[in-house]
Amino acid sequence: MTRVFGCAGDHTGHVIGYAHFGGSNACINTVPMNGNLNQGAYKNAEDYAATSAGLKNYDPKLIGFTQQVKISLWFCDPDYPLRPMHILYTLTDPIGVKPFEFWNTRSNSLKPKDGTCPYCKHIFMDKAAFSL
Ligand SMILES: [Zn+2]
Repeated sequence: MTRVFGCAGDHTGHVIGYAHFGGSNACINTVPMNGNLNQGAYKNAEDYAATSAGLKNYDPKLIGFTQQVKISLWFCDPDYPLRPMHILYTLTDPIGVKPFEFWNTRSNSLKPKDGTCPYCKHIFMDKAAFSL
């Protein structure tokens, strides 16, 4: 899928992490994802969620609480309609709501300097947070 619908430098990124949460390898759970994003900021968000859920670096303060992760994908790039252009990963746990927002940068394109998606005009919550 990534070779057909992604671009140079993309990995087959798991929307629900394979290593962290046992997310499926099936197409329904994978998208073309910038390799640096997949192994960097997106992995860091999964690390944070896994820690919050007690799956990693177990935190006893979180016993008995539930955690919710909502992942929103925007497919707004007309050149790559099956590749998400940006991703919002929102974790809700007893500590609060923590959003992680990512720009799925093409290897040959620049991130929007003003924090606005050039295709759908979505405005990133934190203009500094969408860096890889
Ligand atoms: Zn967009």
